[in-house]
Amino acid sequence: MIQLLSLVFFLFPAGPPPVHSVCDISQQFTFYMDGRFHRQYLEEDARDARNWGSLSELDLSNTNLLVLTAGDMRIPYSKAARENISGFLAEGGTVLIMADGTGKPVPIAPVLAEYGAVLEDHQAVKPLVGVGELSGKEVAYRRGGTIKLDNEWSTLIQDADGRPVLAERRVGKGAIVLGSRGLFGQKPDASDPINDNWVGPMLVARASRKTIDPKLRHRVTWAEESRQAGPLKIEFHDGTEQFADDVVEVYEEVRPHLLEITGVEPAPGMIQRLLILPTGGGGFSSGVCIAIGAWWGGFPEKRYPMVELIAHEAGHSWVLPYAEPLWNEPIATWLGIQVGRRMGMPEAEKTLERQLRKGRKLDPDFTELNPMAKGAHRDLIWGKSYYVFETLEKTHGPGAMAKYFRTKRDVLEPGREGYSMDDCVAVWSLAVDEDLFPWFQSLAFDVDRSRTDLPSP
Ligand SMILES: [Zn+2]
Repeated sequence: MIQLLSLVFFLFPAGPPPVHSVCDISQQFTFYMDGRFHRQYLEEDARDARNWGSLSELDLSNTNLLVLTAGDMRIPYSKAARENISGFLAEGGTVLIMADGTGKPVPIAPVLAEYGAVLEDHQAVKPLVGVGELSGKEVAYRRGGTIKLDNEWSTLIQDADGRPVLAERRVGKGAIVLGSRGLFGQKPDASDPINDNWVGPMLVARASRKTIDPKLRHRVTWAEESRQAGPLKIEFHDGTEQFADDVVEVYEEVRPHLLEITGVEPAPGMIQRLLILPTGGGGFSSGVCIAIGAWWGGFPEKRYPMVELIAHEAGHSWVLPYAEPLWNEPIATWLGIQVGRRMGMPEAEKTLERQLRKGRKLDPDFTELNPMAKGAHRDLIWGKSYYVFETLEKTHGPGAMAKYFRTKRDVLEPGREGYSMDDCVAVWSLAVDEDLFPWFQSLAFDVDRSRTDLPSP
């Protein structure tokens, strides 16, 4: 315990922060809400935990700030979730809601209606100005809508026509702060902390009204439901359960193809869990866990994008423990394209051709530009990578990629440090029993046999 406390004081010299925030990513997942909002506005003053599970199940007892977004229509804010929010407000919690009217139904709208606020389908007019405690503050703004409020609310920022864009309302011992999404950062790399001179202080001042125990860590809440599909643990919550079966079905279709294309099982210990993410915005892989956006590319109506995404994220686990150099992303999507081809999906060929075409615009024969050069164009890296894989399949296949994966597993000793492009070409050379350094050099790769410790064929 003493060690734990000293760690707390090391991280926060002024003592543990008075705010425990939770950014909700259960109604709609974005990389921005998964940590970047906190980094932009609350890093100094609040500890953040993310909610991945059903909002209705979230324990908010030692939390004083809850951050919500508009959500996605596929996952309405449930009655039980709304009750959890109102209980939190009654106890003194502060809820920040970042949302805009769109002219279409907005999932957070019924929550706001309970408290007398409506997101208008009306564009805010710049410049925006602060009101009351925010008067005189500079207000940066992208774009978004105005809000209609009953007289329980106080405006904090208004547009040039005097319509509210940010406002607050006391509820119980707590408060709701409601504002247009355009007042806050959006970039997944957190490089756009607009309005950071007032957003953090405004939230901290309100959240601190509810006392929490700063020494008791509030926890990340994970998706609370799961079931087994063979060796794979499928994780979801009340809102994403509706997608779980369809996603698993695609994974089960994809997996045997990946086994054949790569010639090996996923690296030992990898892909044990599959998380259904409430988003259409893609997925990620941590090796052990792959997370898949439930309605990516129009799924379940459209299937090819999901086949490609699942193969891509799974592919990241196949290449471990040594991630591929340069083409770690392209090789994952190429695996997806191969699976799509084998499943007879015409979109696979189109995806491949489109990327090759874009690459050729920059380097018509793929012999001129070094894809490893600093600042190399994305289309050059991706196009040239696909060209290499396709050509090796033609000249050393079928099954050239499987030979490569098997050889890579065989020759890389455990505990090895790093895996460079020189190493990679050495593995390819062993796999196809031919020195490929001259060929890669003819494609303008900066590779050199003398820079790898791996043997020649
Ligand atoms: Zn990836």
